[in-house]
Amino acid sequence: MAVRTLKDLLAEGVSGRGVLVRSDLNVPLEGGEITDAGRILASVPTLRQLLDAGAKVIVTAHLGRPKGEPDAALSLAPIAARLSTELGRNVQLAGDVVGSDALARAEGLTDGDILLLENIRFDPRETSKDDAERTKLATALVELVGDDGAFVSDGFGVVHRKQASVYDVAKLLPSYAGDLVATELDVLTRITTDTEQPYAVVLGGSKVSDKLAVIEALAPKVDTLVIGGGMAFTFIKAQGSPVGDSLLQEDMIDTCKDLLERFGDVIHLPHDIVVADKFAPDAATSIAMTSDGFTEGMGLDIGPGSVERFAAVLRSAKTVFWNGPMGVFEFEKFAAGTRGVAEAIVAATADGAFSVVGGGDSAAAVRSFGLSDDAFSHISTGGGASLEYLEGKELPGLAVLETEG
Ligand code: ADP
Ligand code: MG
Repeated sequence: MAVRTLKDLLAEGVSGRGVLVRSDLNVPLEGGEITDAGRILASVPTLRQLLDAGAKVIVTAHLGRPKGEPDAALSLAPIAARLSTELGRNVQLAGDVVGSDALARAEGLTDGDILLLENIRFDPRETSKDDAERTKLATALVELVGDDGAFVSDGFGVVHRKQASVYDVAKLLPSYAGDLVATELDVLTRITTDTEQPYAVVLGGSKVSDKLAVIEALAPKVDTLVIGGGMAFTFIKAQGSPVGDSLLQEDMIDTCKDLLERFGDVIHLPHDIVVADKFAPDAATSIAMTSDGFTEGMGLDIGPGSVERFAAVLRSAKTVFWNGPMGVFEFEKFAAGTRGVAEAIVAATADGAFSVVGGGDSAAAVRSFGLSDDAFSHISTGGGASLEYLEGKELPGLAVLETEG
C-alpha cells in the first residue's frame, strides 16, 4: 500500500505552513494524573520534526468517551501539560474544539508554535454516522490550518475508525502518514506478506469472539497458532472437556469445533491449566489436565507443562505475532503463563526473529514483567486497529491516505 509519509511532507517544506496532526493521546488517567504516558511519548517524534521544520502545528486528539459535549473530567489539559514537558515548548490548549478560542489561537500561531485542540469527541460530529455532519467538522478543522495546510495522520490506534478527524479531514487536505502510522503499516505488511518461517501467532485474552476473525484469517498462513488465556476454554469445551466456571462463550462452541476441525494441525491449545477456587489474587490453586477437564473452580492461567511447550515452539520461530495474555497476569499467581510466553518471544527476538506485540493488556503485561520494549521488534500502539488489519478488513483511516501506484 502506497502512502505519502511525513518524510515526503518535510521534503516539500512546511516552514510557515499550518499542519493538522491527528495524534493518539488517549492515556489512562487516575484522579487527573496520567498513569501511563506511553502514547504521549510515542507521539512526540512526529510533532518534534514538524516543529523543528518551522510548521505551525495544530494537534487534535480524543480522551475517553465523552458524550459529544464538553466534560471537564475529560479535558486534554493534563495532556497539554505533559506534552509541553516532553517537547520542551509551551503547548497551548484551546478552550474548545473548533470554536472561537481555537480559531483565535490558530490565527496567532507563528512558525514552530504548537496548539492542542480540546478533546475532539466533545463535538458530536466527530463520531457521527452522517457523512455530512462529519464533513462539517472536518471542514472546520481545515479552516484552522488554512489554504496551504496539510494533514498528518499519526494516531494508529484510531485508523480503523471512520471519524471526522481521522477519515474525513484526510479527504480535504493533502495527507501524510506520520511516523507512528508509517511504522505500524510497515510492520503489518511484514507479518502478512513474505513472512519468514516458522511463523507463530499467539492469541489469548478474554473473549474468543473478538479474535475469531483473526484466527480464520491467520490460521492458513502460519505454522503454529498458540491459543491461551480465557479464550482457550471455549476451545477446550469444544473438545469435550468440562471447564468448571472458567470463561466460556457458549454460543462460540460450535465455531471453535469447526476451527479445530479445519486447522487442528496448526492450533496448539494448553494441555494443562492452573485452576483457582475463586477469582482473587490469594485463590487456592491446583493443576488440571485439559484432557480430563475440571468441574469446579476456574482456569486462570495455562499450566506449567503448557508454558514449556509453548515456549519451545516460540523460541524457534522466525516471525511472531502475539496478542492477548495467557492468563490473569494482573494477579501474580496467574502471571507465569504470560511471563513464560513473553520471555520465549524475547529469546526468539534475540536470535533474530521478527516479533510483534499487539494489544493494550499484552503490552501492559510485558512492562509489568520489567521487559524492555526493545526486547521485541515492535510493540503496537493500536490493538484493535492491528487486529482488524490482520483480519483483512480495510481500515478507513489508512485507505484514505492511499495514493495511486
Ligand atoms: P489485549 O488488550 O492484549 O488485546 P484482551 O483485552 O483481549 O488483551 O484480554 C486481556 C484480559 O484477559 C486481561 O485483563 C486478563 O486478565 C484476561 N484473561 C486472560 N486469561 C484469562 C482467564 N483465563 N480468565 C479470565 N480472564 C483472563
Ligand atoms: Mg484489552
